[in-house]
Amino acid sequence: MSVQLIDVSHIYAQGTPFEFAALKDIHFSIEKDEFIGIIGHTGSGKSTLIQHLNGLLTPTQGSVLVDGVEMSGAKGDKLALRRKVGLVFQYAEHQLFEETIYKDIAFGPKNLGLTEEEIENRVKDAMEVVGLDFDTYKERSPFELSGGQMRRVAIAGVLSMKPEILILDEPTAGLDPYGKEDILRSINQLHEKQQTTVVLVSHNMDEVATLADRVIVMSKGQILMDAPPAEVFTQVEKLDEIGLSAPDILYLMRALKKAGLDVDDKIFMPEEAKEDILRALKSGEGKPCLKI
Ligand code: ADP
Ligand code: MG
Repeated sequence: MSVQLIDVSHIYAQGTPFEFAALKDIHFSIEKDEFIGIIGHTGSGKSTLIQHLNGLLTPTQGSVLVDGVEMSGAKGDKLALRRKVGLVFQYAEHQLFEETIYKDIAFGPKNLGLTEEEIENRVKDAMEVVGLDFDTYKERSPFELSGGQMRRVAIAGVLSMKPEILILDEPTAGLDPYGKEDILRSINQLHEKQQTTVVLVSHNMDEVATLADRVIVMSKGQILMDAPPAEVFTQVEKLDEIGLSAPDILYLMRALKKAGLDVDDKIFMPEEAKEDILRALKSGEGKPCLKI
């Protein structure tokens, strides 16, 4: 499935003194199998944008097309859209409410009117993806869990709907490094093994650089860049201008180059950097090449 935004603008509280244009003339589309990263400063419109992708928000101007069919008008089947496009909100664990993990994850499928058996299979599958053992956790209260585990339950609740497109709004915010890694691994697996289309909103450039194959940079309600990571993250000055930064590795490579080591200062992935640094160190053997 594909979702297309055509000249979408969104104004909050229109006609009041609090009127605010959060999106301005947004034009872009998501195609099947993509892994899109959305980055941008707080307030740049990321959350507003993604809520247009599953029909939670309606554009003030412009249209949203799903597989070529207009969604923004009265004809649009928003319920069907919400089933196909799963949205994991920021701090999604705040929306857990059932007394057991099973019930929380089963909530969506139950509303679809599936049989008990189908519901159980969906809960099992979703828990497996997020790395929670079914028998250990199904009868436990979600409120006894750690923050990272609670978030995994919340993500499983969206996965149990088997969305074709999975959108996650800052899914690792506030988690420790292990919690972050677990969640990112699950998301990446979903994309690679089940061909789920993923839209990941993140503050963390390293996360986006490693996972996404397309990066959208937002600033003040507009899309500033929409390109592969290699193109976006090497435009350090442009990112600096809007208060963002490139992945840490890129700065390291730039610093090494400046210090006289013959490395490629466009590399921003850890593994590539390691290889390139080793190569440069070997080729410079015997020569005083670093001015640190
Ligand atoms: P981001 O997710 O990039 O931080 P948001 O999409 O949440 O950005 O917000 C974009 C802008 O819209 C911000 O300036 C925010 O204050 C404003 N905004 C968000 N939600 C509302 C709302 N419900 N009413 C009025 N303004 C809002
Ligand atoms: Mg946000």
